[in-house]
Amino acid sequence: MAATVEQIERKTLGKVRPHQTQNEGLVFEKSAAGKRGYKLPPLDVPEVDAKAALGPAYRVEKAGLPELSEIEIIRHFTRLSTWNYAIDLGMYPLGSCTMKYNPRVNEYVARIEGLADAHPYRPESLAQGVLEVIDLLQRCLIEITGMDTITLQPAAGAHGEFTGILLVRAWHESRGNARRKIIIPDSAHGTNPATAAICGYQVENLKSNAQGGIDLEALERQVDEDTAALMLTNPSTLGVFENEIHKIADILHAKGALLYMDGANMNALVGKVRPGDFGVDVMHLNLHKTFSTPHGGGGPGSGPVACKKFLEPFLPTPVLVKKDGELHWEYNRPQTVGRVRAFYGNTGMFIRALAYILANGPDGLRQTTEDAVLNANYIRKNLEDLYELPYKTPSMHEVVFSDKRQAAKGVKTGDIAKRLIDYGFHPYTVSFPLIVHGALMIEPTESESLEELDLFIEAMRSIAKEVEESPDLVKSAPHSTRVSRLDEVQAARKPVLRWRHENK
Ligand SMILES: *Cc1c(COP(=O)(O)O)cnc(C)c1O
Repeated sequence: MAATVEQIERKTLGKVRPHQTQNEGLVFEKSAAGKRGYKLPPLDVPEVDAKAALGPAYRVEKAGLPELSEIEIIRHFTRLSTWNYAIDLGMYPLGSCTMKYNPRVNEYVARIEGLADAHPYRPESLAQGVLEVIDLLQRCLIEITGMDTITLQPAAGAHGEFTGILLVRAWHESRGNARRKIIIPDSAHGTNPATAAICGYQVENLKSNAQGGIDLEALERQVDEDTAALMLTNPSTLGVFENEIHKIADILHAKGALLYMDGANMNALVGKVRPGDFGVDVMHLNLHKTFSTPHGGGGPGSGPVACKKFLEPFLPTPVLVKKDGELHWEYNRPQTVGRVRAFYGNTGMFIRALAYILANGPDGLRQTTEDAVLNANYIRKNLEDLYELPYKTPSMHEVVFSDKRQAAKGVKTGDIAKRLIDYGFHPYTVSFPLIVHGALMIEPTESESLEELDLFIEAMRSIAKEVEESPDLVKSAPHSTRVSRLDEVQAARKPVLRWRHENK
């Protein structure tokens, strides 16, 4: 049943990536002296000698900027924009990233004049509307997580981790001892140990058990009076739910340590279970993952931190409080860890996330979670005969295969990912989590239809067949892009901008 690249490409890409736009030259190559993208009216003021007026600030040499007409500039950049891959173009199966669709209603709401124009220095009495939005989002997220309180300040997931561990540290310090170490499982996202280290903690590694979960006995041996916290991703980066999470919490609490949950994978839990109910003390959320605000490309993220009541005194300032029916920012909080971001956080993301939550409602959010888990398991079932599944534990919102069978033919996970580009899909996450050698980490999210999932499965099955029949074709992929295999380290510093004819 394996389809050829051409058949699948026709169905997924169509005319989206026409080959003629791939030969687009550099803007400098298109330049012709004297061309202009603008026209000024005739001079109607006395002419001045710029060189004399500016003195040494006058630039003698030409800046060497490209000279083009307006339509040439528009066409150049529009053509370049068609080379971008985007969630609005096709499936984006990057595991751990929850690349879900950003509903247009979010964008509509974020552009409502009173919200879009609200200035952070506007007096509180005139900003009650946007403060209501922030307050309502806080209450929704507290309800979803089962925690007691929250800050929306952190600008991303990693920044949320940093803020959360600052809370942990401040709480321990308030009891007389900051403690020295944080335990982190070997399946953790790289930002977890980085966070612990930057907050001044020693990182202690905890090995996962054969099911990909926490080994309770090993944890019990490792936790002591010097342990500040365990940082745990749940479901883990293997897509596995820690079903003994309440016991993990008990082991930590018995020694006075706290349970931090990396909540980047909440897309598998929203509406089904609440971290606050299974013993988590503090956690972050990624609004740009779970709650559908735009994601990637360096745009603004948002990583709220929710925690239990006992951590509330340490929250970053200002904290939103309601007094006499009006919302105010409260600054005077003696035990605060301080401000972690300018103003109040990325407000545009709050508006989008709230729009998403309200548009779905409780039943819709639960359905979303169920569909995300169903989609991941549909992919798992349809690929597990061709790709090695290192952990047999049931999958939540993502599935992790390994390239073991393909590696026997000399084809690695990175090669398969690059071949996927030829089939019109963004690659999955390559070589992560680190505990799976040659990992293929796939997270379809709930956004994908059955038809799109089937196309993806067809592409992956077709590639597995290619690995058997013509491994070199896969090892030299992608074949349909402007440039092919770049030096992945050098490419960021020495970009290769010119079309290489030998690729076609
Ligand atoms: C994405 C992610 C993070 C980091 O979030 P950013 O917003 O990229 O800083 C942390 N942990 C896990 C498990 C993640 O998937």
